[in-house]
Amino acid sequence: MNALLATVSADADSGRPILDAATREVVGYAPEQTVSDLESAISAAAAAQPAWATLGHAERSRLLREVADDIEAHAEELGLIVTQEQGKVAGAGEAHGAAHWLRGAADIVLEPQQLGGDAELHYVPLGVVASIGPWNFPVMIAVWHIAPALRMGNTVVIKPSEHTPLSVLALVEIFRRHLPDGVVSAVSGDREVGAALAAHPGIAKIVFTGSTATGRRIVASSASNLARLTLELGGNDAGIVLPDADVAGIADELFWGAFMNTGQVCAALKRLYVHDSVYDEMVAALADRAAAAPMGSGHDKQNRLGPIQNPSQFDIVARLVDDARARGARIVTGGEPAPELGPLFYRPTIIADVQDGAAIVDEEQFGPVLPVIRYTDLDDAVRRANGTEQGLGASVWGPDPDAAAEVAQRLEAGTVWINQHGGVDPAIPFGGTKASGYGLEFGVEGLKAMAATKVIRR
Ligand code: NAD
Repeated sequence: MNALLATVSADADSGRPILDAATREVVGYAPEQTVSDLESAISAAAAAQPAWATLGHAERSRLLREVADDIEAHAEELGLIVTQEQGKVAGAGEAHGAAHWLRGAADIVLEPQQLGGDAELHYVPLGVVASIGPWNFPVMIAVWHIAPALRMGNTVVIKPSEHTPLSVLALVEIFRRHLPDGVVSAVSGDREVGAALAAHPGIAKIVFTGSTATGRRIVASSASNLARLTLELGGNDAGIVLPDADVAGIADELFWGAFMNTGQVCAALKRLYVHDSVYDEMVAALADRAAAAPMGSGHDKQNRLGPIQNPSQFDIVARLVDDARARGARIVTGGEPAPELGPLFYRPTIIADVQDGAAIVDEEQFGPVLPVIRYTDLDDAVRRANGTEQGLGASVWGPDPDAAAEVAQRLEAGTVWINQHGGVDPAIPFGGTKASGYGLEFGVEGLKAMAATKVIRR
């Protein structure tokens, strides 16, 4: 156990064991915190908030940069915990990403707006912000929540996913070394603790990243405390490959748009519509890459793909592939677990000759599987791409950027990428439409989402 992990892990007799996603060995123990710990954390956050707000933007930004430097200094230690409990290759990448996002939030300029006449619009703190996160990018997504909230003068109580609490506790420990007491605290608990946090009357705002089903519950509970919401929910991103696409030129980018983090990405490419004229070539190019992608423990940096993080997600992936097979879809490569690598490894899988209506197309797989769907009529492909309830991301692939941009205009998604998929940037707003949620993160819009507006007329 590294020194950082040792500072946050509970004892074996009081904590809940957290397993290495690849080996299923115990990594450490999550403190079992309760609703009464939550009460203390919210009280401390409320007490700390006025003084934190009074520090002003320049001082808060300076402190965020200081935390970023310390995260970088501990990137290997923090990254090791991420690799252990999440499974991903090179977990330190999340630590570096977290530092980059903190600096991004510190750098953005958000001045009061002159509205003309006698009116000015100011962005003022909300109070205590609750952050509830998922297990796929535990550290990175925690910082996506915490950084803009702190920058705008709020304090934060974070409830990490019960699958990946240790890396978030370690991250918060680094924050706490630099910030006044109560400004950021973590409460490691289960879904009940999450529900109690979301419904708490002391919370002014909830930023939630997770499934659409949980998002709906949080919306319902916000009727009681009127907490403002940013909801980053599930995705089922479609990609459309146009008839004149250069298959060899785009296949790498396409493959990693779907398989990055072993497919456990909210805005991964999850359904690919390919024109008949290039369909067979595209399926073969993707299958070659899937078969060749090195999969194994995230501790071996030669690997590019790791395990599925938890058994229930593994079962979802296996069920969706088995259902596709039973419906007559063609499993071009993969289509089965890889038990020689560990219990939660599933071979990178390309599924061809599959149609909308199959669960692997209509539902979010969140794993290393890509269904490739043939189309002949572009309008029909656009209609099918828009045919699910989600609207997080989408992409269009073809050599003519104007033609691709015209298709992008017609896709129902918060972000549409052209000849790329899934890239995000601290300065560029990101968020979903339809059942993928509402509210924006990142950029100046992300800061505004962590503030109340106040008009002053003089
Ligand atoms: P999940 O909804 O099961 O859990 C997310 C968090 O919510 C956990 O911390 C959990 O303890 C908590 N929670 C559960 N029930 C709750 C309740 N009633 N009230 C409050 N909190 C509660 O999601 P998951 O399985 O951890 O994550 C996978 C999902 O997250 C996928 O659907 C994926 O697409 C989505 N996701 C979205 C984004 C995005 O930016 N849109 C990013 C990553 C993941």
